[in-house]
Amino acid sequence: MNHAKIVIIGGGFAAAKCARTLRTKLSPNDCHILLFSKENHMVFHPLLADVAGASIHPDSAAATLRQMLPGVECRTESINLVDTSAGQIEYQNDRGQSQRANYDHLVIACGADSNLGVIPGMSDHAFPFKTMSDAVRLRLHIIQQLEKAESSSSPEQRKFYLSFVIIGGGFSGVELVGEINDLIRESMRFYQNFAEDEVKVTLVHSGNQVLPEVSPSLRDFALKKMKQVGVEVLLNTKAAAATPEGVGLPDGTLIRTATVVCTIGTTPERLVERLDVRKERGRIVTDADMRVSGLQNVWAVGDCACIPNTFNNEACPPTAQFAEREGRQVAANIVRVLRGEPTRPFYFKQLGQLCSIGGRRAVAEMFGLRISGFLAWFLWRGVYLLKLPSWSRRIKVGLDWGWDLIFPRDLGTLRTGQAQQLAVAYYRPGDFIYREGDPANFFYAIEEGEVEVLRSTRGEQAHAAFAFLGPGDFFGEAALLQDPSYGVSTRARSVVRVKAMSRNLFSGLAGTMAPSRGILAELARRQSQALWQHFPASKEALSKEPLSSFLEPLPSCTLKPDSTLDQALAMLNANAVGFLFVLDGQQRLFGVLSATDIANALVLIVSTPVDQRRDASEVQVRELLSADPVTISSDDSSLLAASTMFEHKLNWIPVVVSKNDHHLQGFIQAEKITYWQLQKLGKQTLTGALAAALRDDEKVQRRTAGAA
Ligand SMILES: Cc1cc2nc3c(=O)[nH]c(=O)nc-3n(C[C@H](O)[C@H](O)[C@H](O)COP(=O)(O)OP(=O)(O)OC[C@H]3O[C@@H](n4cnc5c(N)ncnc54)[C@H](O)[C@@H]3O)c2cc1C
Repeated sequence: MNHAKIVIIGGGFAAAKCARTLRTKLSPNDCHILLFSKENHMVFHPLLADVAGASIHPDSAAATLRQMLPGVECRTESINLVDTSAGQIEYQNDRGQSQRANYDHLVIACGADSNLGVIPGMSDHAFPFKTMSDAVRLRLHIIQQLEKAESSSSPEQRKFYLSFVIIGGGFSGVELVGEINDLIRESMRFYQNFAEDEVKVTLVHSGNQVLPEVSPSLRDFALKKMKQVGVEVLLNTKAAAATPEGVGLPDGTLIRTATVVCTIGTTPERLVERLDVRKERGRIVTDADMRVSGLQNVWAVGDCACIPNTFNNEACPPTAQFAEREGRQVAANIVRVLRGEPTRPFYFKQLGQLCSIGGRRAVAEMFGLRISGFLAWFLWRGVYLLKLPSWSRRIKVGLDWGWDLIFPRDLGTLRTGQAQQLAVAYYRPGDFIYREGDPANFFYAIEEGEVEVLRSTRGEQAHAAFAFLGPGDFFGEAALLQDPSYGVSTRARSVVRVKAMSRNLFSGLAGTMAPSRGILAELARRQSQALWQHFPASKEALSKEPLSSFLEPLPSCTLKPDSTLDQALAMLNANAVGFLFVLDGQQRLFGVLSATDIANALVLIVSTPVDQRRDASEVQVRELLSADPVTISSDDSSLLAASTMFEHKLNWIPVVVSKNDHHLQGFIQAEKITYWQLQKLGKQTLTGALAAALRDDEKVQRRTAGAA
């Protein structure tokens, strides 16, 4: 046998078993085994729920690969690319340069990634549950919620902190909900200021039964016992969105909660996505012996592979039980190939299923037997203890579990790393982003959607919108500039995504970077004007005047997204208005093209070298226009139209049917509103107010210049 170089990508169940089997079957003279795994440890996923529920320590459920695999070279570079034609893998070395390594045989066992993108807002507001750091972060967060509830004097806010939502009623969702529920209810006696009936732990599942893989009697048992220990189970319920306020359901209801955990959704690793081989639902298709279809020396195992099981001619499920067997058998097949022997197809009969459901109960189906309750839970613990990859881990976990039977769970929150300073937040239409009176600690920049700025009407709870903000706008400056009198709320008018920057980060940037000083100055200017402070009579008059009084009809000439630059130019010349509307096939507003956009495009064409220059008839307006322009709805007030134009420094604004229906109705011109005000209120009133506003603006500019 020639000396072979075998490269393994991955450090999970499949990869570790493969490396260990190869090392026992082949001596270092026969082969060099090189294993690349992003983390230097193997995570024992079935115990992640115990880590999140604080019944075992994190390091008990993770085993260090180089200690577990003597005789195997373990590296932590992440593999970016597999070049099957050159027989090489590519990774970034410690200096950030791309480097390649050859292989004689390659085993791809890189698992799958969690994918929170399946539900809007989940990736921003839900905890994933796949890695050790996910479990550790979740445990810390849960205990922090208990601490916050203990110190909160508001019953509503306490309910928010004490509500926990887990999405997905499969094995990991059920085990996790059980552990979280146990952690919280067992820890109640250490907290003085809230009662058990304020705690709500909810499992949201789209199917009509939890644990669809086990037999109906066990499912019913699991459901009954979960309810008995206080878990609320919502069946046939799909989460529609996640926001900082909670989980939105399709019927529009919101489960208010500060904790959402998503246990559903996977996506292939980037490496697999880039691999040009046959795939089934993102998994690499292999032959029965686990060779990647069409390749002789590349093999795939575990969650990243779609392997036919000759036991039942079905694809193997993505479970640890299968991944381990696949890892062991792929190693045996590689050894056979190196010895010139025929390979064997994968064959495995599943041994059974075990799932802990909380309250020291589990359900188990093994060797045709169905067991539930405490005995099943004891079996569950025994089986997983034996399955742990080393004796040191078995003893550690055994001690943790023994400790957990006698002593309460550890509620310490040892902080690691820095608090998150820049986050993305997702809001549904109608969600409050900031409520007047709440502690304001963030500065927000809108990435997508429209936000309305509201002031509560005098003596009432109701809010009246007085301005709109859109993509590229920012708000939250009241807190940053420390002006407690600036009492407004902000609410999402459409689906909104914002970047939220903490006060510390913003102040730090403002102190060191010139551009953020500019932003601060602009914020101060905007804030100082307090818009209607000097124009109460205008405000009063405008709020009574219907928007239709100012509505200009829809222009006769509009463009389509695929209209060309020369058509736009001709239309602009014929119209003599400073802008053109671009409508889609259904006559909805697609964007706006201004005279400046057109002029810029022409300048660009003229300044491009002749041989690379495009003709104006080749440039489509979709490349030039401002998509997603700020609009107002036909049922909005004239006051809102005026405020929005003022905020955005617009001379005109398009009017659409409603915030959900962007059919264009016409537009409003600032000029027309000003003329109307002059007629209605008289020149003297307006000029007096204007002079006062300018004096205030000058004061603030001086103050900001001093601060900067
Ligand atoms: C919370 C939870 C509970 C579970 N409970 C059970 C259970 O009770 N029973 C059961 O049978 N199954 C269970 N599973 C499923 C089981 O964990 C997986 O099927 C199993 O981990 C798959 O093993 P794997 O080796 O294919 O991948 P993984 O164990 O996911 O390992 C993938 C490895 O590849 C590495 N990697 C990824 N990309 C790269 C790259 N580009 N370069 C280098 N390294 C890379 C990663 O760092 C990781 O080490 C559970 C899963 C979860 C998330």
